[in-house]
Amino acid sequence: MPAAFFKDVPMGLEFNSDNYVTTQLRKVVNWARRSSLWPLPFATACCGIELMATASSRFDIARFGAEAFRFSPRQSDLLVVAGRVSIKMMPVLQRVYEQMAEPKWVISMGACASTGGVFDTYAVVQGIDQFIPVDVYVPGCPPRPETLLEGVMAIQRIIDQDGLPPSGRRPMNLAVQPTHRPQSQPVPLTVSTS
Ligand code: SF4
Repeated sequence: MPAAFFKDVPMGLEFNSDNYVTTQLRKVVNWARRSSLWPLPFATACCGIELMATASSRFDIARFGAEAFRFSPRQSDLLVVAGRVSIKMMPVLQRVYEQMAEPKWVISMGACASTGGVFDTYAVVQGIDQFIPVDVYVPGCPPRPETLLEGVMAIQRIIDQDGLPPSGRRPMNLAVQPTHRPQSQPVPLTVSTS
């Protein structure tokens, strides 16, 4: 394989005069990780539409190896929170995050996920980073797909640098408790067959 082929591959390859290359296992593992991100879309509002557009053929997130969207946290390593998160929804988001296996990364997409956006109300979380770790904040209302792709590339740079602490990250344990109690249905549900 010609050396030029590896020129832009961040695997830490070093070429030697005797036609062999050396690298480090850690760098190869990181290269595999950054090239096969499996996102979990946690889309609660309009930013989710831009997230869907990012996966479409026009923007083609597959160019970055991140097209395998999964809806099970057990199969995902990149959580993309797209949209505002209500106080009632935050325990669900925390549960999803905790169910993802290490190593995992988090993108906060859009003003609402990062700060609450224009929804400065008691019902909306004013930034998901108060409750789960966030690696990359993607600005905008909504961010364009190109901006989200820039966020994915930022995650790849973090993985290249192996920024994970040796013991892995832990949730910040600032769980909010729901302020409501689901009640039983007051009237039994009946379905007419006539
Ligand atoms: S940041 Fe803007 S586009 Fe995204 S969820 Fe909030 S209001 Fe919608």
